[in-house]
Amino acid sequence: MPELPEVETVRRGLAPILVGHRFAAVEQRRKDLRFPLPAHFAKRLEGRGIEALDRRAKYLLARLDDGEVLVMHLGMSGRFKVDHANGAESAPGSFAQKAAEAPKHEHIVFHLDDGSAVRYTDARRFGYMDLIPADSLDTHPLFIGLGVEPLSKDFTPAWLAGKLKGKKTSIKAALFDQRLIAGLGNIYVCEALFRAGLSPFRSAGTIPTKTGKATAKTIALVAGIKAVLEQAIEAGGSSLRDHARTDGTLGRFQHLFKVYGRTGKPCSRKGCGGTVARAVQNGRSSFYCPTCQR
Ligand code: ZN
Repeated sequence: MPELPEVETVRRGLAPILVGHRFAAVEQRRKDLRFPLPAHFAKRLEGRGIEALDRRAKYLLARLDDGEVLVMHLGMSGRFKVDHANGAESAPGSFAQKAAEAPKHEHIVFHLDDGSAVRYTDARRFGYMDLIPADSLDTHPLFIGLGVEPLSKDFTPAWLAGKLKGKKTSIKAALFDQRLIAGLGNIYVCEALFRAGLSPFRSAGTIPTKTGKATAKTIALVAGIKAVLEQAIEAGGSSLRDHARTDGTLGRFQHLFKVYGRTGKPCSRKGCGGTVARAVQNGRSSFYCPTCQR
C-alpha cells in the first residue's frame, strides 16, 4: 500500500501535468471504485481548471477553479500513468506493463487541454475519488479526525510530548494512530523508531516527562520521523510491489531500509553488533534491533 512518501512522490510527479491546465474530457468507465463515484463525476470535472495539487495524509487534493476539490486516494494498487502531449508515455519499462496494468483495470482517464492524459488504473479497486467543496474539507468525515502532518512545522517535540503524556499504549501503536499523526505507515514507524534508538514496545508515556515535556527521546523521535519521510520522498518512495512513481520508475528508498524486512541481518548502527528481529505487534510486523532500541 502506498504510504505518505509515495503519495507525495505521486503528487510531485502529477503537479506539473495538472496544475494550470483544464480537464478537456473525463472518461469514467465504472460507477464505483472502492465507493461509488460522486453523481455526474465526469461532467462536473469537464472544463474545470486545476489551481493546485496538494496532499493531506494519503489523499491527493486537486483544487478546482469552481471551489470544489477532487479528492483522490490510491488505496492498495491505484496508480497514475501519464500520456504526454508529445506522444511519450511516462510509465515505460517492464514494471509498468505487468498484468495489473491491463486495460480492464483502467477506470478513469483525465484528458487535459494540452492533449496530455492522466490514466488511473487500480487492479484491486481499494482506491477512491470524491468531489468535496473546498470550504467544507476540514469538517468532512474523511478529514475531520486526521492528526498532524508529520512534515509540517506543527509537528514538534513539544507537541508530541503533550500528546504522549500518560499514554499506556506502546509507542508503535501511538505513532500508528492516524488521529495523532496522519499518514505514518508501518515501514516509516519501524525505521523512525530505529533511528531514534527506541523500542517499539516501550510505553508511549515514557517518551516525554511525566508532566508531558519534551525529552531527548522526544526530540530524537520527531527528528527520526521527519528524516525518514524526507529521505523516502527524496528517493521517490519505497514502491513496494504494487506501487510505482508516476513516471513508472521504482523508488530507491527500499534499498535504504535499516530494519524493515531485514530480520536476521546485522544491525547497521555503528558498534551495536545486534541482530534485527521481527515481532508481531497489533497485528503488524515490527522490525527492530533488540540491542540498541530501548
Ligand atoms: Zn542495533
